[in-house]
Amino acid sequence: MTERRAALLTRHGKHAAIAPALAGMGWELALVDSFDTDSLGAFTGEIPRAGNQRDAALAKARLACELSGLRYGLGSEGSFGGDPWLGSCGWANELLLCWDAERRYAVEAWASGPETNFRDWTLSDLAALPDILRQAGFPAHGLIVGRPGEAAFHKDLATEAALRAHLARHLTNGPLHLQSDMRAHRNPTRLAMIERCAQSLAQRLACACPACGAPGFGEIAPLPGAPCEDCGAPTRQPRARRWQCPLCQTAREQKLTAAASPQYCDHCNP
Ligand SMILES: [Zn+2]
Ligand SMILES: [Zn+2]
Repeated sequence: MTERRAALLTRHGKHAAIAPALAGMGWELALVDSFDTDSLGAFTGEIPRAGNQRDAALAKARLACELSGLRYGLGSEGSFGGDPWLGSCGWANELLLCWDAERRYAVEAWASGPETNFRDWTLSDLAALPDILRQAGFPAHGLIVGRPGEAAFHKDLATEAALRAHLARHLTNGPLHLQSDMRAHRNPTRLAMIERCAQSLAQRLACACPACGAPGFGEIAPLPGAPCEDCGAPTRQPRARRWQCPLCQTAREQKLTAAASPQYCDHCNP
């Protein structure tokens, strides 16, 4: 790549988490802050996000190219919910992708895990506030009061004194909904995961496709079907690791020889 600059739309301080990983491979970030990315969908639900997480990240990356005139644009999008097994602890999925407006393809990198303060609470008495503040990591992490459209709705209360005064005023009308603020500039835990995602994107961009030479050759989801150790039937455990080029789709496979434990077998352990 000759042109080593990528545009990033941001009003939420994501550049600090993304720039170092890209600088490590000689890329410079060009910030486009003239655009309110919240208009593409906000966590607090004022504006619903259109499409899935990948569509949303891609829309931001392409817009960054259009507004900056640069060839490369970055798009970052997070999603938060319950963990994929029991859904009982918080879980974050971060996506960062790089759109190449000339060759018209995207290189993407994901980071996921339980490192998140994503949660909501119902507060009916200020006595319960200290526990909530501890769980939310306030004031280092933001806390959003109420829901959009409600009189109590507020997402920029920076100090405990301001928060308490606001809550005391609105609690007289009944219990209040509180939620962790997932905007990157108000959530250092989220910023750390975006940083991990940026490191993984940098690794991907540094890896050229063995067939077409385009950057972004990298590991994709493994192929399922490892045989059960007891009965030999295919399971959902991986039987091969796979790498693929996001531009020409050339793939490489590495077969795994390990059999799967019968605990993953639908025949032995239905
Ligand atoms: Zn079996
Ligand atoms: Zn290729």
